[in-house]
Amino acid sequence: MHKTKVVAVLLVILMLLAAGCAGHTPDTGQVPGTGGKVQKPPAQSQSVSLVEPGEKKGPAGLVAATVTRVVDGDTLVVRLKDGKSETVRLIGVNTPESTREVEPYGKEASAYTRSRLDGRRIWLERDVQERDHYGRILAYVWLEPPGGVDPAEDVIRSRMFNAELLLKGYAQVMTVPPNVKYADLFVQLQREAREKKRGLWGLKVKEREPYYIGNARSRKFHRPDCEYGRQTAPGNRVRFATREEALDAGYEPCNACKP
Ligand SMILES: [Zn+2]
Repeated sequence: MHKTKVVAVLLVILMLLAAGCAGHTPDTGQVPGTGGKVQKPPAQSQSVSLVEPGEKKGPAGLVAATVTRVVDGDTLVVRLKDGKSETVRLIGVNTPESTREVEPYGKEASAYTRSRLDGRRIWLERDVQERDHYGRILAYVWLEPPGGVDPAEDVIRSRMFNAELLLKGYAQVMTVPPNVKYADLFVQLQREAREKKRGLWGLKVKEREPYYIGNARSRKFHRPDCEYGRQTAPGNRVRFATREEALDAGYEPCNACKP
């Protein structure tokens, strides 16, 4: 009797915990595919500046690095000048999963980034936040230095790898404020790729909906019957007539309902 009661209480706690996790993951604005993995958050004091004290910043505050490994389409391991190894997550873009689970076009995106960047010399540009919760450096990856803090659009198109992934349809826009320096242009590049059905945009879309629900906080959008969409607080709710409208507003498709 007593034992049963304890077991019942434990079960309820477990269920609550599971529900809490499941309800939380898709809408945090975090990088998809990292939800289940427990990673140690970086201690504040561990934070290492991209630019060492005393070192002169380049014209755009760029830091040179060499790519030692491509983890997947949007994540790299690089070696910095001081010999230190760092993981870099590209800002503003998201390629389909290719590691823990495989999403359509994930392998292609991963192979493309590997073919372009493995072993290559690159230049990292940071935005407002230097690192994400996992301690990865957040960066725009330049194949050649842009030659100024405010590069022209054609320079971005031809030299920045984040832009290249979007233009070729290997990535979708993923806007995580406050790192939004190139967010508007990224949405435009994504639209071009989509209109030309490049890469992942050539894949067939599962059935269209009469409308979609956007979450202004997480910047994700959902099918009307998605539980995460329905859980969106009324104040954050944005209605889109089509998925194109949501994509052009810079919203990212939900990982669960795949709108
Ligand atoms: Zn959804």
